[in-house]
Amino acid sequence: FIIPEFQEFCKNIEEIYWKCKDNTDGKVASYIPQLKRMSPNYWGISICTIDGQRFSVGDVAIPFTIQSCSKPLTYGIALDLLGADVVHQYVGQEPSGRNFNELILDHNKKPHNPMINAGAILICSLLKTLVGPEMTSAEKFDFTMNYFERLAGNEDMGFNNAVFLSERECADRNYALGFYMRENKCFPENSKFKECMDFYFQCCSLEVTCDQLSVIGATLANGGICPLTEEKVLKPESVRDVLSLMHSCGMYDYSGQFAFKVGVPTKSGVSGALLVVIPNVMGICLWSPPLDALGNSCRGVQFCEELIKKFNFHRYDNL
Ligand code: GLN
Repeated sequence: FIIPEFQEFCKNIEEIYWKCKDNTDGKVASYIPQLKRMSPNYWGISICTIDGQRFSVGDVAIPFTIQSCSKPLTYGIALDLLGADVVHQYVGQEPSGRNFNELILDHNKKPHNPMINAGAILICSLLKTLVGPEMTSAEKFDFTMNYFERLAGNEDMGFNNAVFLSERECADRNYALGFYMRENKCFPENSKFKECMDFYFQCCSLEVTCDQLSVIGATLANGGICPLTEEKVLKPESVRDVLSLMHSCGMYDYSGQFAFKVGVPTKSGVSGALLVVIPNVMGICLWSPPLDALGNSCRGVQFCEELIKKFNFHRYDNL
């Protein structure tokens, strides 16, 4: 086993779980009513190792929308199907140093990276326009959801239509980002603007549980092969790129500090999820809706910091 004393390890995880549960910092996202209604008390941790050992504690079976944790996944699919050269003609690899939805492009007039809204919208336009352009919107949605499900070990995923409709209604900033990118000719030729935006909102509105997201993390930790089904879902070179950018850009404008303190590729989402990947070891999903000022789950970030105090998972711990 990759973690030999798994029971003992899980006991430690549970201890940190209870410690973080007392943390009542942060505010649940309120830009749409469906997220605002989420209880601030939800707190779940799921773990899946690359050899399929699993552990979970707390609210691990309650569905929540994947939101920005979809960004590394759509990026990975785009890399796999189009290749890194094509993808990075359109989007950079640099942290923006700004908020996740900041109205800003890099000095080449491209979105800074695929982990922030502008970059993720752009990636969605590549998947819509360059991958199977003959597919209808319905087919492209199914195609993408099927990828997400295979990353999660072939478990059925949900789609929250109320969140999708609200996201689309309350999307002034995302439309502004989209128009700004269109003005700067960021999108591939023949892109259909409205369809691409809808596709981005749909990807954010897929519903997962903590347990499912931990399996997705484990598939990434395992170089793209799902440890539960043994299916090769993504190529290792695509996963390498995904993890690199999760490491440098995955936590919005906290990414630099997080890479320094925790040192593990992680992506956060506005629903309160953290998708944590410990390469060649395991995937961890942390979920708790209250967010700090930068948009990361308070309990999730605390958990990561505590975990790294206790275990040497930081990328540079083994020097
Ligand atoms: N749906 C959200 C948005 O586009 C996702 C952002 C996030 O999770 N930070 O604004």
